[in-house]
Amino acid sequence: MNALEYVPVPAFEDNYIWLVSDGRNAVAVDPGEAAPVRAYLAKRGWRLSAILLTHHHRDHVGGVADLLKDQPVPVYGPAGEAIEHLTYRLAHGDHVSLAEPALELAVLDVPGHTSGHIAYFQASDPRGTPHVFCGDTLFACGCGRLFEGTPAQMLASLDSLAALPGATEVHCAHEYTLSNIRFALACEPGNTELQAWRDEAAARRARNVPTLPTTIAHERAVNPFLRAGEPSIQATLADQLHETVTDRLSAFALMREWKNRFR
Ligand code: ZN
Ligand code: FE
Repeated sequence: MNALEYVPVPAFEDNYIWLVSDGRNAVAVDPGEAAPVRAYLAKRGWRLSAILLTHHHRDHVGGVADLLKDQPVPVYGPAGEAIEHLTYRLAHGDHVSLAEPALELAVLDVPGHTSGHIAYFQASDPRGTPHVFCGDTLFACGCGRLFEGTPAQMLASLDSLAALPGATEVHCAHEYTLSNIRFALACEPGNTELQAWRDEAAARRARNVPTLPTTIAHERAVNPFLRAGEPSIQATLADQLHETVTDRLSAFALMREWKNRFR
């Protein structure tokens, strides 16, 4: 079987629209705008064969109508959200089986950023590597804001992503890594893997190279939102915020709120 290519196409300020291609056909994940997708497809000579959506925000669905004008393709998205043009409405436990490119995806419910947010997990590509497309739920060194969900929902969603195989490549929808790392270091200044990642990520951005994909194993080691149970993080939160941290849920909720106002 031919290898698949996973390409982050930049859009807007800091979005990535992921394309997965077998060299002829491509699937687009969260095309918030059509123009960069059209341009990239044209450059590579790829044909769009399907669209996958994780949640209803404009910067993830805004390009769907225009892409459908070019060619009618099936559109997969969350059953729990009001999104136009959906061909298939998906929820936890559903499977997406595509022929071109050949892709088998399992649907995970990951509410928190939005109430119906889903992620797509590919257990194995032709080389044996797992992949997940997680929209605005899990970011490199961070997580999405809680626009529609509770901290408990988001923590459960992040737990389900963190439980995926460590080698899983994580395809997030935004390049937020450098600012996320600054916050992560405030939460866990002594994390040496995080310090090394700060230097590596800064070097990549200086060359205008994406910091993604990341992996689940790496996120478990450096992402403070997956590490809310760490005693050192809980101690830092109690100290910095003058709050009582009783468990990982309270630590997670305090951390998420702190991040909202962190500069
Ligand atoms: Zn969003
Ligand atoms: Fe977004």
